[in-house]
Amino acid sequence: MTGHVLISEVTRQQSAVSYIQLRQLRQLRSMPSKSSHGVLYQYRNCRLLRNHSIYKDDLWVRDGKIVNPEILFFEEKSYADIQIDCNGAIICAGFIETQINGAFGVDFSQVPDKGTIEEGVLKVAKGLLAHGVTSFCPTVITSPPSTYHKILPHIKKSPGTKEGAGVLGAHVEGPFISPEKKGAHPPEHIRTFDNGFQDVIETFGSVSDVAIVTLAPELKNSKMVIEEFIKRGIVVSLGHSQSNLVQGEEAVNQGACYITHLFNAMLPFHHRDPHLVGLLASERLPKDRTIYYGLISDGIHTHPAALRIAHRVHPQGLVLVTDAIQAMGLPEGFYVFGEQEIEIKGKRAVLAGTDTLCGSISTLDNCVRHFIKSTNCGQVLALEAASLHPAKMMGITAQKGTLEFNTDADFIVINDNLEPLATYIAGELVWENPASPSLVISKVKD
Ligand SMILES: [Zn+2]
Repeated sequence: MTGHVLISEVTRQQSAVSYIQLRQLRQLRSMPSKSSHGVLYQYRNCRLLRNHSIYKDDLWVRDGKIVNPEILFFEEKSYADIQIDCNGAIICAGFIETQINGAFGVDFSQVPDKGTIEEGVLKVAKGLLAHGVTSFCPTVITSPPSTYHKILPHIKKSPGTKEGAGVLGAHVEGPFISPEKKGAHPPEHIRTFDNGFQDVIETFGSVSDVAIVTLAPELKNSKMVIEEFIKRGIVVSLGHSQSNLVQGEEAVNQGACYITHLFNAMLPFHHRDPHLVGLLASERLPKDRTIYYGLISDGIHTHPAALRIAHRVHPQGLVLVTDAIQAMGLPEGFYVFGEQEIEIKGKRAVLAGTDTLCGSISTLDNCVRHFIKSTNCGQVLALEAASLHPAKMMGITAQKGTLEFNTDADFIVINDNLEPLATYIAGELVWENPASPSLVISKVKD
C-alpha cells in the first residue's frame, strides 16, 4: 500500500458520520499525507451508469478524478480512506445544460441594475446544483452589440466549485437568425453577416469564452462564418431558421453539429422538404459524425408525440435542455422582468393575466423525468441525454459527461425516480437533498 493513512486515530474502526462530519473529514485533504495522492473515496452499495448501462459497482474517486480500481489494487496496493454507503442509489455523471437563459431571477441577456454579471452567473450556478447540473452554458439571446460587449466578457469559462456548477462558456443564441423565426428574440437586433466573420467580431467583441453559437444557416456567408467558428473551437448550432434540408446538410458538412430546440423556431417537417428536422434522418451527413439536437422536454413546449418521434428516429443525438428563463426556480406569484409582468402558475410562466406562455421554467432533472414518462425510453438514455450526449456534442468527454476512469468526478447520486440526492463536483460534495436520508460515511484505516 502507499499509505493513505490520514485518519491515524482510527484503527480498524468504521464509524457512521453525517455529511457535516464528512465535510470536516474532507478538510483532512489539506493535511500532510505520506502518499503523493489525496484521499481515496469509495462509493459503495450503488449502481453506476457507465457504458450505456446501469449496473452494481463501486465508484472510486481521488484528487477530483474518477479512478480505476484495478490500478489501485494491483499496482498501488491502495485501499479506501473513506467509504460512502449509497443505500442502493444510482450514480450518474453530472448534468450538462447547454441552453439556459437565466433562473432564480437572473437574466443572462440583461446587464443587471444591481450587482454584477458575475454575481448573477454564480447565483444560477449555485441554484443549478440542486437539479443535478454540474456544468452549463449561460445563454444570451439576440441583443445589440453594446450589450454583448458588456455581458460576454463577464461570462468566463470556469470550473465548477462548491459555490456552483462550472461554466463551459456562453451560448450566444442569435443575433444571426431569421426574422421570420425569431420566437421571443427582439427583431430590431437581428443581424446578418454580409461582411463575413468581421460582422461577427464587431457584434460580439471577443468570442474566446463563447462555447456555442446558434445561427440560421440560410444567411449569406454562413459557410465562411461556420468555418471560422469551428476553427476557434466553437460549436455551431442551427436554429431560429427558415433553412431547408439541403442548407442544413451543407452547414453540418461545414462543421455545425447541433440543432437548437428542435421543432421550435424552425420550419416544420414537410414530406418533400423536411427542413432542419430532416437532419435527424439525413444520409448526406459525414458518416463519422453525429448530429445532436436540443429538445425542451418540459411537458409544455414540445408535444409528447414530437418527443417520441425525435427519440425513435435519432436517440443518440438527443440533448435535453430547459431553455429556462429567469423565472425558473422562483416560487409561484407575480414578477416584473424588464417591461414584462409575468405570473408563475404551477409549471408554467405566463404573461400576467393571460394564458400566453413566456418561456420554460422547467429544471433539467424534471426534463429528464418527463422525457422518460413521454417516450418510455428508459433511464439510461434519458440520463445520457443530459450528460453524455451534451459532452459528446461539445467534445469534452475526456473530462465530463461520463463516469469513465480519469474523467472529472462531477457526478450525482439519484434515487430510482431520478430525483437528485446529492451533487458532487471534482469529488467534492456541493449539494445534498435536505429531504433525503444522508448517505452513510465510514472512515477506514488499515
Ligand atoms: Zn430559442
